[in-house]
Amino acid sequence: MTKHDNLIGAEWVSFGNYQDNINPSDISDVIGSYSYGDASSVEAAVEAANGAFPAWRDATPQARHDLLDAVGNTIAARKDEIGRLLSREEGKTLAEGIGETMRASQVFKFFAGEALRQVGDLQSSVRPGIDVEVTREPVGIVGLITPWNFPIAIPAWKIAPALAYGNCVIIKPADLTPGCAHVIAEILHECGCPPGVFNLVMGRGSVVGEALVTHPDINAISFTGSVATGHHIAETCGRLRKKVQLEMGGKNPMVVLNDADLSVAVPACVNGTFFSTGQRCTASSRLIVEAGIHDAFVDEMTKAMQALKVGNALDSATQIGPVVDAKQLNSNLEYVDLARTEAAEVIGGERLELDANGFYQAPALFLGTSNDMRINREEIFGPCGSVLKVADFDEAVAVANDTDFGLSAGICTQSLKHAREFKRQAAAGMVMVNLPTAGVDYHVPFGGRKGSSFGAREQGRYAVEFYTTVKTSYVYAG
Ligand code: NAD
Repeated sequence: MTKHDNLIGAEWVSFGNYQDNINPSDISDVIGSYSYGDASSVEAAVEAANGAFPAWRDATPQARHDLLDAVGNTIAARKDEIGRLLSREEGKTLAEGIGETMRASQVFKFFAGEALRQVGDLQSSVRPGIDVEVTREPVGIVGLITPWNFPIAIPAWKIAPALAYGNCVIIKPADLTPGCAHVIAEILHECGCPPGVFNLVMGRGSVVGEALVTHPDINAISFTGSVATGHHIAETCGRLRKKVQLEMGGKNPMVVLNDADLSVAVPACVNGTFFSTGQRCTASSRLIVEAGIHDAFVDEMTKAMQALKVGNALDSATQIGPVVDAKQLNSNLEYVDLARTEAAEVIGGERLELDANGFYQAPALFLGTSNDMRINREEIFGPCGSVLKVADFDEAVAVANDTDFGLSAGICTQSLKHAREFKRQAAAGMVMVNLPTAGVDYHVPFGGRKGSSFGAREQGRYAVEFYTTVKTSYVYAG
């Protein structure tokens, strides 16, 4: 069994407490054993980061560019091997695993370019003889806390901007999927990241995550994960006056209007609802369908869903991999039962026993549902979608926006008027027209509203808001 340690400064450090990383497609496959730290591990990482910060803050843009560019190139060169590791530890299909790995490479290369972009303003003062400069400086030491469902892309889209803008990083990846973050640490180390600029501390959220959030020398926390954990972190950061950014859950609506082209709408809904086993914060979990197309849509959607091949993530024929672990699978199955209790008609959703011993579930469609049911209010985070029948466009928009969340919202229509109006009225951070609610670009902002997000946007040039702080200087030449 390969043992994997934490990166603190220039050293790979064991804190003992090795935990197995299990493949959800086949639980007899143990990927490796990872040393989980505690509060004293975070203390050691903070000490390393404190020592490294002044030199990294003052490093040339070229030095930062070269590091991030080399990391991006290395990830791309190793995409098949890393993609396979990702599929083994998280359970998404190999194609999705390799695709996500390439996304991480692109993110590093994008922020390599951003490291060269010196953003600031030089202005004349309102007073004579004075110049005013507005410049951006790194925030300092940032703690990054990431979830299991995008084990390489989310670490990448936090690490890359943090380093590009001159911060030092301590990352705690999800305890279910430490493998990909460990690979990023190896690559940063091999590409010559100065000791202490990047530190990896693996471990439990309640132990290592909590220690990061409460440590007085950590200046900012970027978190992606569940609503409950996010709220807890925001409260602590508020109390400690620490900069914080949260990306949390979703209950994303996909509206299908009477004039939708079903050959576009059905694949978009199948992708958005079921791909990555529905374990995406941007998944389309509420399919809001206008009455005139409802029956035809349900017919086609059911056929397409039932044709999906569920199986081992590494099998090239597989379209839907396993659920990530037993706890998530049980939670999904409870929601399927709840759908019946709430008087929905349930198609699929049963546990599947396949050749390998894994956490397999058939995708599920809940029909005849209403927006006040718990299955339509709470994030399930599994391969389950509800259909809600509505009378017209106005009711579709009202139902789409009647949720505590606001991450992504989609519409399938051939009407420019309705597409335009939906873009305007959707209470969400991202809007998709004739596209799945999931699946975004890396060079533009990502994030939501209401219960889905808090703080500055991630990704693209908007990442500068979170990872820098503004300084206004006044110069009188005399
Ligand atoms: P989670 O909240 O259980 O864990 C997320 C991270 O927080 C993990 O690293 C965990 O160890 C850590 N953590 C747990 N308790 C902590 C504490 N007390 N202090 C500090 N850190 C702590 O979420 P998860 O189950 O890993 O991920 C699934 C969730 O993530 C879903 O709700 C999904 O919608 C959300 N998600 C959101 C986005 C987005 O961008 N909006 C993207 C992906 C996933």
